[in-house]
Amino acid sequence: MSLDKPDKSGPNLDTVSVLDERGSRKYVYPADAKGRWSRLKPWVYTILIAVYVALPFVHIGGHPAVHIDLPDRRFYLFGATYNSQDFYLAFFVLTGIGFALIVVAALWGRLWCGWACPQTVFLDGVFRRIERWIEGPASKRRRLADGPFTGEKVIKGALKHAIYLALSVAIAHVFLAYFTSVDTLGAMIEDGPAGHMGTFMWAAIFTAIIYGNFWWFREQLCIVICPYGRLQSVLQDRDTINVQYDYARGEPRGKVRAKELDASVGDCVDCGRCIAVCPTQIDIRSGPQLECIGCAYCIDACDDIMTKVGRPTGLIRYDSLAAIEDGKRRSFKRPRVIAYAIAGLILVVVSTIVMSRNDTFEVNVLRVQGAPYTLTDATIENTFRVHVVNKRNGHTLFKLAPADGFADVLFLPQTDVELDTFQGRELPVFAKVPLQHYKHGMEVHLTVTDTSTGEVEDVAVAVLGPRRPVRKAKAHEDDEHHGDEGDRHHGDEGEEKR
Ligand code: SF4
Ligand code: SF4
Repeated sequence: MSLDKPDKSGPNLDTVSVLDERGSRKYVYPADAKGRWSRLKPWVYTILIAVYVALPFVHIGGHPAVHIDLPDRRFYLFGATYNSQDFYLAFFVLTGIGFALIVVAALWGRLWCGWACPQTVFLDGVFRRIERWIEGPASKRRRLADGPFTGEKVIKGALKHAIYLALSVAIAHVFLAYFTSVDTLGAMIEDGPAGHMGTFMWAAIFTAIIYGNFWWFREQLCIVICPYGRLQSVLQDRDTINVQYDYARGEPRGKVRAKELDASVGDCVDCGRCIAVCPTQIDIRSGPQLECIGCAYCIDACDDIMTKVGRPTGLIRYDSLAAIEDGKRRSFKRPRVIAYAIAGLILVVVSTIVMSRNDTFEVNVLRVQGAPYTLTDATIENTFRVHVVNKRNGHTLFKLAPADGFADVLFLPQTDVELDTFQGRELPVFAKVPLQHYKHGMEVHLTVTDTSTGEVEDVAVAVLGPRRPVRKAKAHEDDEHHGDEGDRHHGDEGEEKR
């Protein structure tokens, strides 16, 4: 068998697997694995990359499927639009995603890390493939890196880094498109960097981070930086399904022929192939480890060896520690999983309800500056401005009208207003309440109708006036024709939300 052997120094169980004894970085050259999981991975990666790239390009309701418009503080998500006042929704969305990942970790360990995290998807699915395509299998890559500078090394290195850089530029621009929109970014690129220095600087910074990460930093991000990776030990238990080595079946290890001579020898032939393919260079036979990202390449590598030596596959497999140690069946009904799932479910339900109830328009009532009310011989008058904001995707006509029973007291000089997406306008409204009908604390109502959807919003506005009976108050205040201090709302630009 011709196999890519693990790094000569082998796994170091006293320290992080990718560091040598002096604490220096050991660059990893994982060998290629062949098997069912390795065959499935390119499909998964292709679909995920297509989704990452498509989200800012595909338009739903006139806007990108996902667009985080920071300068205008707007957020477009699959046809819905949100503004800065909806920022609280981010809490529900982020905690919902967090709990979903926690439930996944409790049930299937690092499934996210090994299969769906963008770090794995791009590193394993794109950058390492380019490296293999240009420089060959792991043993050749290591020889090339350790060897002297030759024409082959320079040419292959230059080609590899040129492609890495081009890909980093492309990924950085896709990432930026989430924040600027594809159309705006396209226009900026046509204009050139001089006119958009801020965006250009961000593109350069993202390119440098992506290039440095996928060329050099690589698995260090999972081992050293990622908080999700470091939380795994508290999120998992003995029933969590993970990539496991069946030590009961594999130990004691022995070479292929040893088992023929001694029946007590286990199935592991100590070939080291599971370490050679591991992107973090750990020995899964030492038990679950923080560095294991659950990529499943060691399963394929070991199955391949088992097939070659005529032994059953599955010596390394997806299984729980309880199943390996006690032969216990996997159970999903565990307190930890149920608790995480209930918390996650509550957040998903709450965030779905809150987000689906997100209004298509917003109405705020503003008091004009100056006196809160005016007292005449026959009426108490309040003046407001009604601020209408269109939160729908698209131009919309809004109609304002007094609600039933308030046509005699509410006067609207302008009843129609046309607004583009997230455009807002203030319209004046006058309330004139006859003195004999005025009661302290009374409200008047008007309606705002979105003519595109037919949605009608009833807006209640408190009529401000004297606290004491009007006749007495009027006699007392006739000279001033203005409201008393007891009722006056200071900060007259105060906003009353509907
Ligand atoms: S031990 Fe296996 S599953 Fe874990 S990172 Fe290494 S190859 Fe992947
Ligand atoms: S690949 Fe399988 S047989 Fe080879 S060392 Fe790893 S566990 Fe043992």
